[in-house]
Amino acid sequence: MNMQQLLRQRARWQPWKRVLGFATGALLGLSACAPVEESAVTNASGANAKVYQWKMITTWPKNLPGLGAAPERLAERLRIMSNGRLDIKVYGAGELVGALEVFDAVSQGTAQMGHGAAYYWRGKNPAAAMFATVPFGMNAQEMNGWLRYGGGLELWQELYGKFNLVPFAAGNSGVQMAGWFNKEINSIDDLQGLKMRIPGIGGEVLSRAGGVPVILPGGEIFTALQTGVIDATEWVGPYNDLAFSLHTAAKYYYYPGWHEPGPTLEAFVNKDAWEALPTDLRAMIEVATQAINEDMLSEFTARNNAALDTLIDEHGVQLRRLPDDVIAALRASSAEVVAEIADADPLARRIYDSYMAYLEDVRRYHSISEQAYMNLRESAD
Ligand code: CA
Repeated sequence: MNMQQLLRQRARWQPWKRVLGFATGALLGLSACAPVEESAVTNASGANAKVYQWKMITTWPKNLPGLGAAPERLAERLRIMSNGRLDIKVYGAGELVGALEVFDAVSQGTAQMGHGAAYYWRGKNPAAAMFATVPFGMNAQEMNGWLRYGGGLELWQELYGKFNLVPFAAGNSGVQMAGWFNKEINSIDDLQGLKMRIPGIGGEVLSRAGGVPVILPGGEIFTALQTGVIDATEWVGPYNDLAFSLHTAAKYYYYPGWHEPGPTLEAFVNKDAWEALPTDLRAMIEVATQAINEDMLSEFTARNNAALDTLIDEHGVQLRRLPDDVIAALRASSAEVVAEIADADPLARRIYDSYMAYLEDVRRYHSISEQAYMNLRESAD
């Protein structure tokens, strides 16, 4: 099957929709307030009565649970907080532009806002990926610390500012799973020639370790795996992977997610649109994205366990840990690939230096706090 046939088939068959009935209901249930009616908008009075009708385009399939819920909840909360003055319509991948065109489209003003993951934009600057996740790098808690109090957000703003964008952290999945494989991975030899969907720095690392990384947006993964276009894929974790029915296309589910130890998802706003907003609406975007950043991590934390049980108990999925020698090889390649990011340009160097310095600091303290505690808790069993 060639890529065009694949795309046609994808358009016909979107497996996550089968499991979306409950998820969409849950989403709507969470959004307890009804959509703002036109009368509420036109009744607003005073100097701040202007209504901003925006489009938010995303890299996620429309109404996908987890990742796709974030932009919907973000738009809903902003509508409520602003009393309808910031009225954002959310578009799934492919509705206005393709998943991997979101960055350019918001940069150019085709839409005012986007939601995605910074590692999709490595082609703009390799250091962009560091604002999403780095293999063997920071987890969710550490990413939030770096971005908010470690200088990370300012560097992210500087980088995206060059593309007429203002970025915000707006979601985190926590540590992901290593992915779905149609054969067992017993040694580094099993990675040779393995065609795997894996974005970001992790894809380049796999390539150095002998694999063949394939970049596909979420909506195209299932068909590619089912038809053998790819041999393996990573996606997110049990909750989102179950929604994609990936267990019906591959049997072996590997951990840990060495390549995405706590990826930050992002929202970004076209700079001209941002600068046209009054101060209070800007503050609402800052606060609402922060709330969504926390909300996504909480939802995955709450739902992954049950989804993993379902995958194993009801669908016979085989859970496997990647062998130590495979992890060691990936770790070695990763150090090489990540170090090269700094060579791209002076800003990439500053981003790399900031990330690595923060990682070194936080590792030292977390080795005697978070990590020591986790080890302590496990040793009690
Ligand atoms: Ca992933």
